[in-house]
Amino acid sequence: MSHTYPVYRDLAGQVALVTGASSGLGRAAAIALGQAGVRVVVNHPPSDDSRGRALAVVAEIEALGGEALAIAGDVSREDQVDGLMAEAVARLGTLHLIVANAGIERRSAVEDMTLDSWKAVIDVNLTGAFLTARGAVREFLRRGVPAAGTAALGKIVFTSSVHETIPWAFQSNYAASKGGIALLMRSLAQELAPRKIRVNSVAPGAIKTAINTDAWSTDEAREKLLTLIPYGRVGEPEDIAGAILWLLSDASDYVNGTSLVVDGGMLLYPSFRGDG
Ligand code: NAD
Repeated sequence: MSHTYPVYRDLAGQVALVTGASSGLGRAAAIALGQAGVRVVVNHPPSDDSRGRALAVVAEIEALGGEALAIAGDVSREDQVDGLMAEAVARLGTLHLIVANAGIERRSAVEDMTLDSWKAVIDVNLTGAFLTARGAVREFLRRGVPAAGTAALGKIVFTSSVHETIPWAFQSNYAASKGGIALLMRSLAQELAPRKIRVNSVAPGAIKTAINTDAWSTDEAREKLLTLIPYGRVGEPEDIAGAILWLLSDASDYVNGTSLVVDGGMLLYPSFRGDG
């Protein structure tokens, strides 16, 4: 059954690219955008498995009456991001809305962390976000006018994390990548606001997806996780998709350079409840 989101009429007819959209938060965002009448590029890494999942997301969007297509591209590779953008523009005319969402984790104690593991996470999570945003800005500027009846020339939302703020032992590569996104996002927002391009992030807490199955899929793990979440439930991908939809719509037109935390209160330091 499809999730019901608020309707932002300005979104209809625009073109969105969601990276890493064959699963989890990217999938939910792509479906939410498709339901809103946005034409959606469902990006996925170039493996057969991911392609199959991306095509299933396209089929879901079409079944809801929307329009979507799947385009492969590894966001950490400059040539592939540029190729992905070029193909999207060739097939759909332009891009207006970007969700730079692709991300990975590689857990390791720092003394055992290989350079490959460090680089893999930085390359996908941070360099991938930069390459995606750069390609988007080039296309926004090339197009030069906003979509009919809308305010901004283009909008970018990065999928950051509460770990842009909360340090994360054994995930120092991941926390560094998300900390990097925090200032990448704010710097781009500052640079691009005069050109009417809005740049923001969504910062999820713990959401049920494949990236963190170990943290929520057993009763024991879920109970431990819930001690960190004052609101008392683990998040669903649709919690994040709703925030992304709002950040991409004109309803948030005066919001620029913000990281919207969607975490059930995880950032409220719940261990300090009851006198600290
Ligand atoms: P996920 O594993 O389901 O999604 C990640 C997606 O990124 C996958 O579809 C994967 O195929 C794609 N991807 C990986 N490497 C890629 C590459 N090189 N090029 C293109 N795509 C690539 O997990 P998710 O939770 O949906 O993660 C999405 C984003 O949300 C990530 O940036 C993650 O860091 C962030 N996030 C997730 C949570 C959570 O609790 N689930 C919390 C905070 C932030």
